[in-house]
Amino acid sequence: MSALPPMDLVRPMIPRTLFTSDHDDFRNTVRRFFEEQIAPHSERFEEQQHIDRNLWNKAGELGLLCATMPEEYGGSGVDRLYSVILMEEQARVGDSASGFSLHSDIVANYVNNFGNHEQKLKWLPRMASGEVVTAIAMTEPGTGSDLQRIKTTAKLDGDAYVVNGSKIFITNGYLCDMAVVAVKTGPDEMGAASVSLLIIPADLPGFSKGKPLKKVGMRGQDTCELFFDNVRVPKENLLGQEGMGFIMLMQELAWERLMIGIACVSSAEYCLNCTVDYVKNRKAFGKTVASFQNTRFKLAEMRSETQIARVFIDRCIEEALKGKLTVEAACAAKYWVSDLLSKVVDEGVQLHGGYGFMLEYPIARAFIDSRANRIYGGTNEIMKELISRSI
Ligand SMILES: Cc1cc2nc3c(=O)[nH]c(=O)nc-3n(C[C@H](O)[C@H](O)[C@H](O)COP(=O)(O)OP(=O)(O)OC[C@H]3O[C@@H](n4cnc5c(N)ncnc54)[C@H](O)[C@@H]3O)c2cc1C
Repeated sequence: MSALPPMDLVRPMIPRTLFTSDHDDFRNTVRRFFEEQIAPHSERFEEQQHIDRNLWNKAGELGLLCATMPEEYGGSGVDRLYSVILMEEQARVGDSASGFSLHSDIVANYVNNFGNHEQKLKWLPRMASGEVVTAIAMTEPGTGSDLQRIKTTAKLDGDAYVVNGSKIFITNGYLCDMAVVAVKTGPDEMGAASVSLLIIPADLPGFSKGKPLKKVGMRGQDTCELFFDNVRVPKENLLGQEGMGFIMLMQELAWERLMIGIACVSSAEYCLNCTVDYVKNRKAFGKTVASFQNTRFKLAEMRSETQIARVFIDRCIEEALKGKLTVEAACAAKYWVSDLLSKVVDEGVQLHGGYGFMLEYPIARAFIDSRANRIYGGTNEIMKELISRSI
């Protein structure tokens, strides 16, 4: 594979104002981790369809996992800018294999926000150390966008819920030691009010995993199916209360959607850098490709639009830090910036010519990896549906 492009070739037009020197120190640690432990091994991760399990432990040792969790539960009690840094640095090396953010900034939040003291004590410290890898399992073969129609059931039988059903497209699914699973604890007629969340350890009898799915992109990510065949899940593994699953899922959705926006704008910056690096070196008709007016105009558009997205995302982050990010802003961040990334990466491929179609080039990988952003975390159509409701 070709070496990573020199990053930060393209300066921001507008300086960022979010971070302090403490954040910068953390960023240096994260950057080193991604540059040394992740980026050089991406091809192997793709072949085996997952990252090396011990990288979770290494990330944990460096304090990269669950940093925003309270210190009492193994975290560092820091603000969400530390999570933002992790997502940005992952994108900066073009990594699509590691699922650290989903573990630290989605699953851990559910356990911390809705779990009781025993649940937090049992799971969060081991999640922060990397001893336990986690997943969030909502989507099923028969339903994704329409979450209320899930079919996985959890029927109370004495001191346990008996869980039956299956989940699909689950990030971190193959390596996970525990999954927070959306289940039906009530009758279908109750709709959203019948959805609950259960903490299900992967070693319970009847819990099995499929092989990592063969995906168009993100091939180093261990996305897979999970199967539940009469799994007896202790009653005390219920997160929050029965029937509150939907409400719990809604509470964190704005942040989760913004996370995709954060990753997408950072990936767009990465694609821009890859492209600038390439066109400055590639020659045609005795000149660099960078010198053609078409190239310069395309780069000007890519840079301008990525910068505009960056300012919007940074303002959304500020709102999220204050706990004031609106649903519609988060939906706009998710849909508009993931659409923009598709556009930027597509232009980047075009400016690479045939090499843009070769997987050894980072832009080609970014092309296949970026597509899923418009689908997961709520499809972009669902985002527009939600925004339109607020008008
Ligand atoms: C790489 C990857 C990782 C994922 N990771 C996870 C994970 O960790 N956990 C998890 O639970 N899920 C995960 N997912 C699943 C993802 O969230 C779903 O695929 C997504 O929510 C869409 O659901 P679906 O695939 O069932 O599509 P459907 O809901 O069947 O949608 C099909 C099409 O219909 C459109 N549509 C549906 N409803 C409407 C409507 N009301 N109005 C207009 N259009 C509509 C959709 O926008 C889409 O274009 C992942 C998916 C991928 C690809």
